[in-house]
Amino acid sequence: MPNLTFADWQARAQDLKIEGRAFINGQYTDAVAGATFECVSPVDGRLLGLVASCDEADANLAVANARQVFESGAWSRLAPAKRKATMIRFASLLKANAEELALLETLDMGKPISDSLHIDVPGAAGALSWSGEAIDKIYDEVAATPHDQLGLVTREPVGVVGAIVPWNFPLMMACWKLGPALSTGNSVVLKPSEKSPLTAIRIAQLAIEAGIPAGVLNVLPGYGHTVGKALALHMDVDTVVFTGSTRIAKQLMVYAGESNMKRVWLEAGGKSPNIVFADAPDLQAAAESAASAIAFNQGEVCTAGSRLLVERSIKERFLPLVVEALKAWKPGNPLDPATTVGALVDTQQLNTVLGYIEAGHSEGASLVAGGKRILEETGGTYVEPTIFDGVSNAMRIAKEEIFGPVLSVITFDTAEEAVAIANDTPYGLAAGVWTSDISKAHNTARALRAGSVWVNQYDGGDMTAPFGGFKQSGNGRDKSLHAFDKYTELKATWIKL
Ligand code: NAD
Repeated sequence: MPNLTFADWQARAQDLKIEGRAFINGQYTDAVAGATFECVSPVDGRLLGLVASCDEADANLAVANARQVFESGAWSRLAPAKRKATMIRFASLLKANAEELALLETLDMGKPISDSLHIDVPGAAGALSWSGEAIDKIYDEVAATPHDQLGLVTREPVGVVGAIVPWNFPLMMACWKLGPALSTGNSVVLKPSEKSPLTAIRIAQLAIEAGIPAGVLNVLPGYGHTVGKALALHMDVDTVVFTGSTRIAKQLMVYAGESNMKRVWLEAGGKSPNIVFADAPDLQAAAESAASAIAFNQGEVCTAGSRLLVERSIKERFLPLVVEALKAWKPGNPLDPATTVGALVDTQQLNTVLGYIEAGHSEGASLVAGGKRILEETGGTYVEPTIFDGVSNAMRIAKEEIFGPVLSVITFDTAEEAVAIANDTPYGLAAGVWTSDISKAHNTARALRAGSVWVNQYDGGDMTAPFGGFKQSGNGRDKSLHAFDKYTELKATWIKL
């Protein structure tokens, strides 16, 4: 299959059929109340279609179906090897429908089609197959009991999982949850973000085609304060797994306390430091990486390297390299395969980002790149990747998660100062360290309070390692076998011999 051109993607976008209904018990269905909301593309402001606006009644229906099929054992007690085969089929169906899914993702949230096709869809499929492949290779335990006892330590699925996900990597975040949740035998009610519901709705049908029984995966599009809240307060949801902002993450803990003390696992926000020491092995590579760490996915990345900490002695040499490297990240129509930066997810997010750029100016930081909305005539929401120099860690642009392509450059003199600035944040999701000194690399990595630390690179990783945050970046981990902890309860069974 030859690579699709800009014109091909535009033609497909015109012909695309949008499914906007909820998916409950194996069927597409309107919201019980019949409500809908408009799904608008940030690419050009056009209406893509109407999407079901679910609420508590839909949550009740989906949870009841999810519970019923869980209790039936049709999926929860299926032999792990059979669940594995089904998950692998599910992953293959994502790959077989990659172009449609990529197009839905790009039109819905504005990211470049090349990223949707080559990063998001394969990443999502990989999360499903990796977890599925693992499930018949994990053994339970026999405890070191006295001789007259047999102690079995077994893992059981928790039951009904409510998965609430954000809009920046809609399909991938959903599949980071669905992979381990479904592989371990749970039923899931997935609530995609109201800003990006389309791929979640589409893959529900693929789950059925793969052989996952009806009711095991339900998808409820709608707003957080309606259907999201209903799931989080539901007395028959056993676990809520969440990716999104720290503000909503805290709210979910309150809902759990107010309802059934359901387990709550949170992947939340970040304000990650990327520390470049004067002895970095390759300043050019560090500069290119710093640019990509803030511009990739329009800066709408939880691990965005949004605070660039640069050792004073190289600042004048290094910063121009970053400014130059950022020129490769030029916003354009996301349907053009050559585009590296797409549109921000919507007008609200655009205004948030522009508001922070204004704050950078008014707090006295110096603009060295970008800073403006562009391509307004397209009807889309595009902003130039932006760099502020002369930032102090006390400024709002250094303290608050912007979730857009705005980089704050902060200067330091010593390793101790760099670590102190890096850790001076309520967040603890990720960090980067650039140095040729192996001891400095290890010591700095150890001192950083972050769930992921990258040395002489920024970002990256795959399903083999856990991903999640320290401090107010959340709890629990996605990816790797550690993710299975969220979706299973440990049971100790004592047998008197
Ligand atoms: P958000 O918190 O606004 O929304 C996330 C989800 O929660 C959405 O589906 C939303 O509808 C739902 N929600 C909102 N209010 C709710 C409520 N009262 N009850 C239940 N659900 C509710 O976040 P967002 O703007 O969609 O995503 C951006 C955030 O996600 C950023 O803070 C980013 O750092 C974070 N994020 C974190 C990770 C990670 O792995 N740590 C990954 C991606 C994004």
